[in-house]
Amino acid sequence: MLEIKNLHATVDGKEILKGLDLTIPAGEVHAIMGPNGSGKSTLSYVMTGREGYEVTEGEVLFKGRNILEMAPEERAGEGLFLAFQYPVEIPGVPNTTFLKEALNGVRRYRGEDELDAMQFVKMVREKTKQLGINDEMLKRAVNVGFSGGEKKRNEALQMVVLEPSLAILDETDSGLDIDALKTVANSVNLLRDPDRSMLVITHYQRLLDYIVPDQVHVLAQGRIQRSGGKELALELEAKGYAEFAGAA
Ligand code: ADP
Ligand code: MG
Ligand code: MG
Repeated sequence: MLEIKNLHATVDGKEILKGLDLTIPAGEVHAIMGPNGSGKSTLSYVMTGREGYEVTEGEVLFKGRNILEMAPEERAGEGLFLAFQYPVEIPGVPNTTFLKEALNGVRRYRGEDELDAMQFVKMVREKTKQLGINDEMLKRAVNVGFSGGEKKRNEALQMVVLEPSLAILDETDSGLDIDALKTVANSVNLLRDPDRSMLVITHYQRLLDYIVPDQVHVLAQGRIQRSGGKELALELEAKGYAEFAGAA
C-alpha cells in the first residue's frame, strides 16, 4: 500500500531525511517514534507536498504510484489523508459545510455521486456518535476558537468522514487532554480495515496505549533505525532514545 524508498529530503538546504525506507502493507497500523528534531514532521510535510520541503532522492509509492508527483488534491482524491492538513481556521464557514465539501470533492474525483445535505447530515451524526463528539461542533465555524483538544477531535472527525485509504497522523500529543487523545485513538481504531493503512507519528508512548500498532519504527538521524512490534514502544519509553543518538 505505502512504500517509501530511500527518501532524502532537505529543508533550507539542510538534509533532514537521509535515506528513509518504510513499507506499510494494507490493513496495518504503524507507528513512528523518535527524538525531537529527528525528521518526523518533515516526513509528514514531504507527504503533503508542503512548500520548502525538497525531496532530493527516493520515492513514495502509494498503491504503486509516486505521490510526490501528484498535486495535493490528487493525493486527497487517491485516498491520502494527513491529519494536520486542515487545521486552518475558516471564519464564517460552518464545520459541517466544510466537511461536506471536502468529502464531495473526493467523491467527484472518484466519479461517485455527491451526498446531498440530508444524506451527509445523517452520516456525520453517526460518526460524531461513534467518536463521542458533541454535534455542536458541526455548527461552529471551522476551527475558530477551538481549543487544542477540540481541534484534535475535529481532525479525528474529518478522518472518519473522509474514510481515507492511507491516513497519516503527526501527533504532538504533548498537552493533549486524555479525552482528546482517546478520540484520536478511537478514530484510528474505528478506521482499521483490511484495505486501509495508517501511520501514527508520535513522540510519546502514551497514545499507543490506546492504538495498538502492528509495527513500531524508530526514526533517528533521518532514517528508520529500528523496527519492531508494539513492545518496542514500551522499551523506548523506558530507555529513551540515547542508543540512537550517535546513529547515522
Ligand atoms: P521532529 O518532528 O522529529 O521533531 P522535524 O521534522 O520537525 O523533527 O525537524 C527535523 C529537523 O529539521 C530539525 O533539525 C529542525 O530544526 C529542522 N527543520 C524543520 N523544519 C524546518 C524549517 N521550516 N526550517 C528550518 N529547519 C527546519
Ligand atoms: Mg519537533
Ligand atoms: Mg514533529
